[in-house]
Amino acid sequence: MRKFSGDTLLVATHNAGKLEEIVTLLEPYGIKVVGAAEMQLGEPDETETTFVGNARIKAHAAAQATGLPSLSDDSGIEIDALGGAPGVYTADWAETETGRDFVMAMVKAHDRILGVGAAQPWTARFCCTLVLAWPDGHDEVFPGTIDGKIVWPMRGTHGHGYDPIFQPNGYDVTFGEMDGSEKNKVSHRADAFAKLVKGCFD
Ligand code: IMP
Repeated sequence: MRKFSGDTLLVATHNAGKLEEIVTLLEPYGIKVVGAAEMQLGEPDETETTFVGNARIKAHAAAQATGLPSLSDDSGIEIDALGGAPGVYTADWAETETGRDFVMAMVKAHDRILGVGAAQPWTARFCCTLVLAWPDGHDEVFPGTIDGKIVWPMRGTHGHGYDPIFQPNGYDVTFGEMDGSEKNKVSHRADAFAKLVKGCFD
């Protein structure tokens, strides 16, 4: 396992919600974090069919473009009643001609669950794969998950993406109802982060 030894880490995401969570999770390590938008990086096409495949595309593209070690996050929600959909296409379900609309995406998820007549609980999990890539082509991969269920109607205004319809196991609130620090203790991203820190930062 290669250790991170620089002082600046590029976080290869244009997603402000993810960036904020990652910056908070990295704060204790005293590393300077720069985002992809700040470096005017484009968004590479995510052409793979797995979280790890797409995370690798994003991390390597950023490391090549900037010469900096680059961390990417590919994540999404898998709904069991939908055979794991939307999975790697989680963000795509929110696409509109004028940008991403996550309320529309959550309505779509709920409609499809009703469409297949799935019995409750509607089990689901958030998945996150982090890839840390270096400019010489080396990378390290860290997967994380959190299990829970889809609830309806949407609840809560915190977080981002599908947070208002995901209730993690062991809680009676959704991610959208948790404050950020609470979510960051248990989320799929926190799980992957704990592995990243143990592997590359400790
Ligand atoms: P991508 O990894 O950028 O392809 O997109 C992943 C998508 O999954 C995001 O746009 C969000 O919609 C969703 N997602 C990932 N992590 C979370 C989370 O922590 N809360 C809510 N939605 C998430």
